Amino acid sequence: MAEPEYIVIVQCEIVKQRCSGYFCEKAFHERAEGFAAYPKDKPIRTLTITCGGCCGRAVQRKLTHLARQIKKNEGIDKDRLVVQLSSCITKDNFHSPRCLFTDYMKQLIARIGIECREDTHLSPKAESRRKAGTYRSHP
Ligand code: SF4
Ligand code: SF4
Repeated sequence: MAEPEYIVIVQCEIVKQRCSGYFCEKAFHERAEGFAAYPKDKPIRTLTITCGGCCGRAVQRKLTHLARQIKKNEGIDKDRLVVQLSSCITKDNFHSPRCLFTDYMKQLIARIGIECREDTHLSPKAESRRKAGTYRSHP
């Protein structure tokens, strides 16, 4: 694909009722954790949306709107966009287990033709507990 220039962070609607999204933003700002593959010396735009609630179907409508409008207004093709699913969707986490609809959302995103990657904030402590199989969610 072309060099990504626009990242859409998709976060869990339920989790976002309690979370500001700060750790996702911090990880992106530092190009760390789930964003470690992106260059630090290049400006990359970001947009944060939620899945819209279970079953995550609103992701298709929101991303279709974005892809259409960004092409129309700025000539940016969808191969310059990347969706990054937040760790509260993709991983067992403090708020809940991995979202049951993760693969469904990935299918919807693939259908639109936008690349999708997993993970945003990955705290070292949680990662080591996940690897050891001792991680416990506290919904
Ligand atoms: S990954 Fe963490 S910081 Fe990001 S939205 Fe989910 S709970 Fe909040
Ligand atoms: S579909 Fe998954 S990510 Fe979206 S609100 Fe439900 S549990 Fe959260």
